[in-house]
Amino acid sequence: MAATGGPLPVVNDPDTAGHFEAAARGVLALCVCSKCATVLHLPRAYCFNCGSHDVEWRAFSGAATLYSWTVVERQLMAAFPAPNTVVVVQLDDAPSVHLIGQLPGRPELRASMPMRVTFDHLADGVVMPNWEVAGA
Ligand SMILES: [Zn+2]
Repeated sequence: MAATGGPLPVVNDPDTAGHFEAAARGVLALCVCSKCATVLHLPRAYCFNCGSHDVEWRAFSGAATLYSWTVVERQLMAAFPAPNTVVVVQLDDAPSVHLIGQLPGRPELRASMPMRVTFDHLADGVVMPNWEVAGA
């Protein structure tokens, strides 16, 4: 669900730029500790597990399961027409990570259903990972 005309994420922040640079290439990337492989989400400049400052961006599959969702019935911004559905997904290859997305309308959803990453092009150089039902 491309939120054209809506708020844009800051894509050049030192702590999060790798996520958005990867998204612009069609890759879902998360910050990972190079020493102990802990996934650092939310991304940060050091590892909360081992204290290392050696962190990197690694690609993940983009496969996930639906963790939760809610339907937004009242329109708050023109860029997000109501109804729309905000989803929370759990990554299959990083189960400690939950990411959010937004689907148009009121799709038929059930807990734990397979989801896959998509990429919304919001503006020049601004791409946001989003989610859709796998196989839809
Ligand atoms: Zn570490």
